[in-house]
Amino acid sequence: MSTLAASPLVVETPVAALDAALRMAAPREVIAAALQAIGRERLAVVSSFGTESAALLKVTADVDPAIPVIFLDTGHMFAETLAYRDQLIEILGLQDVRSMKPDAAALAREDADNELWFSDPDACCRIRKVEPLARALAPFTAWINGRKRFQGGLRAAIPVVEQDGARVKFNPFANVTREDIAEIYRAANLPQHPLVASGFRSIGCMPCTSRSESAEDERAGRWRGRGKTECGIHTVVTSPV
Ligand code: SF4
Repeated sequence: MSTLAASPLVVETPVAALDAALRMAAPREVIAAALQAIGRERLAVVSSFGTESAALLKVTADVDPAIPVIFLDTGHMFAETLAYRDQLIEILGLQDVRSMKPDAAALAREDADNELWFSDPDACCRIRKVEPLARALAPFTAWINGRKRFQGGLRAAIPVVEQDGARVKFNPFANVTREDIAEIYRAANLPQHPLVASGFRSIGCMPCTSRSESAEDERAGRWRGRGKTECGIHTVVTSPV
């Protein structure tokens, strides 16, 4: 059974016990349990403000709109994503959205011409996503994200609660279906990401995002043709900073 590192990264309930208790829980129950187990000062949501993000953010806001939300503003985001972020902050009353940018010195040193996404996308994701997330998570003991098992690939077997290096990671949408998400959007009259209407089904950075066909995996448009399926924030364990 997993336990966490010494203070300040301490959670009273072991991760395996939390996962067992929440395995069949609804997203709202998972987030409420995370808040109770961790506390608002030590718990953050990480959101891309992408095509399905409003569902997780809506459920989060219903539990507590003051839970911090981390957004990785890589410098390569679509303008539509930045506008959608601002729209959802307004609509949902999110009180603590933190837009994290890459370290300026790292950009100057490793990506001065803004073309690292083409020559070495793993290095680009490292300096624009993985390292900024590690800095953003420094004050937190646990984080919540919106991955779903139905997304397939490495996400097909995610638990509801898991150990992520020194932290706990909650996946409250692990069990949900596309229909569940559509129902959250419908019931709350949530706006779609502006690029959904033009055929984007999974949205990340502009250079690494393309449209996907309905017969394809919904993330097929990410890093298309590059042999890369994840940016690293879910495959590289976070560590204390
Ligand atoms: S998704 Fe593309 S542009 Fe964004 S950080 Fe990764 S490689 Fe760079």
